[in-house]
Amino acid sequence: MARRRQLYEGKAKVIFEGPEPGTLVCYFKDDATAFNNQKKGTITGKGVLNNRISEFLMLRLQDLGIPTHFLRRLNMREQLVREVEIIPVEVIVRNVAAGSMAKRLGIPEGTPLPRSIVEYCYKSDELGDPLISEEHITAFGWASPQDIDDFLAMSLRVNDFLSGIFLGIGIKLVDFKLEFGRIYDENGDVRIVLADELSPDNMRLWDVNTGEKMDKDRFRRDMGNVEEAYREVARRLGVLPEGANVEAIDGESN
Ligand code: 5GP
Repeated sequence: MARRRQLYEGKAKVIFEGPEPGTLVCYFKDDATAFNNQKKGTITGKGVLNNRISEFLMLRLQDLGIPTHFLRRLNMREQLVREVEIIPVEVIVRNVAAGSMAKRLGIPEGTPLPRSIVEYCYKSDELGDPLISEEHITAFGWASPQDIDDFLAMSLRVNDFLSGIFLGIGIKLVDFKLEFGRIYDENGDVRIVLADELSPDNMRLWDVNTGEKMDKDRFRRDMGNVEEAYREVARRLGVLPEGANVEAIDGESN
């Protein structure tokens, strides 16, 4: 395959120019970071698994009518997506108290929330993605009130749908982070679409029966068996590459 022009290297992905205008290729790395880049490591095979898990979940959401940037998976570690203008806001949906919210509000981790709670963070590595309100988003022009309505409606639909998918395979969806982007069409109309990835890197997933963590918290908290947890999520979703030794896949093989 011809070498593509690299546009950007992030913490977990590398972004290349796509084959057609308006498209990008996302290469999923095994690199993992936490605590705003203070902790760095590798989760062997993670890129292969997240590429599959994200493909599966994005396609299911598209079936539901939720617009996403995802076009198709290209190979073991790459997927083709539509180029979007990323909105610098992370949307977090929580069903159970955990992580930063449990800490911030002094709620024991694992406490079910009275209803799903949506939070917004400003996407900034330097600032450590601080919590913000709708006021900040509109005042600083990061998104309009109409965009925020779209984030909220889509995030809650994604939550309902993903919660159901995961419950069906014995996993509780505790919380997750979404990112959205804008696509401008030929008529100058703007559409908000779901972007980034949907994987155990940006969700908390707990086994319903044992409470075992099956997500990036295993890496963040040095719990061990990180690869195994990601592989088990992929296996239960039915997307574990058959017969493939995901540890050994480091290129663009199919
Ligand atoms: P918390 O705010 O508790 O750290 O994270 C809430 C949820 O959003 C978790 O599922 C976490 O994985 C996800 N999340 C929040 N911020 C980020 C981020 O900057 N990167 C990634 N990958 N996930 C995030």
